[in-house]
Amino acid sequence: MYINAGLIGFPLSHSLSPTLHSYFFHLSGVNGGYCCFQTPTVSHICQTIEMFKRYKFVGFNITVPYKTDIMGYCHEIDEGAVCAGAVNTVKISGDKTIGYNTDIYGLSKLLETSGLTTIGKKVLLLGAGGAAKAVTAYMNANRPAHLTILNRTLGNAEQLAENREFDVSVEDDFKSVKGRDYDLVINSTSLGLKGETFPDLALNKAHAAVDLQYGVNETPFLQSMKGAAKKTDGFAMLVYQAAKAFEIWTGVGISPDLSLLYSKLNPAKRL
Ligand code: NDP
Repeated sequence: MYINAGLIGFPLSHSLSPTLHSYFFHLSGVNGGYCCFQTPTVSHICQTIEMFKRYKFVGFNITVPYKTDIMGYCHEIDEGAVCAGAVNTVKISGDKTIGYNTDIYGLSKLLETSGLTTIGKKVLLLGAGGAAKAVTAYMNANRPAHLTILNRTLGNAEQLAENREFDVSVEDDFKSVKGRDYDLVINSTSLGLKGETFPDLALNKAHAAVDLQYGVNETPFLQSMKGAAKKTDGFAMLVYQAAKAFEIWTGVGISPDLSLLYSKLNPAKRL
């Protein structure tokens, strides 16, 4: 049996997902392939899903900018994805589409493999976009002692902070956290992706800094976190969210060799 899976989003030209999934097919012995389907507008989503069904695809991933739009095309949505308000993986079962969010699992593995946790910690989250939703969904089950959400647009931070069952506050000025102590600082903004310098938060102390961005060189955010005892980029999250999607489609769990992937792939490119 040959298994097909795909990726929709725009743009997709730099995606590492086809390479990751080829590695998973090789590692698992499952026979299959994974292709990118550029989806320039939201109106292309419906016809692409119909094509996936016609050709018996087991499922597909969704990346920027359709992780929220895709929810309107799912017959069922997994609890974690509802909580995150975003779907990045769809399983096709007959005529039915079931939505999942494997970014939450990717983040949990990133933190676990780095020896980090949000439970009982004082956490600063930079950004309030799609990736930040996965971070706060993760924190619902791994509650921090306090979470500060710092985002350029205050309204987006306030929306993300709503109805949390843990202590949370919001800020919109990068200078507002000056002199504070945090156990963990997570960057989920896209600031720095184009090589911009990340502003110095001038924290008094930050034990650990996690950037959801990844790159060949240290990311601009991690460069700015000079005093952090521990620094981790988002490559492991990328790999593990893909591994979870593969498992959802095929039923086969993957134990990816992160260091092999680090050495073989050029992580300067975005998913
Ligand atoms: P979104 O576009 O949904 O959110 C972007 C966030 O960055 C918003 O909070 C936005 O603020 C903020 N932002 C953008 N530009 C600036 C700026 N110049 N100054 C300050 N803040 C800014 O993107 P995503 O949440 O989907 O992705 C964010 C990052 O996370 C990306 O770098 C992406 O590569 C990474 N990511 C990594 C994954 C992984 O597997 N490692 C998975 C998913 C994402 P505002 O609300 O004001 O617009």
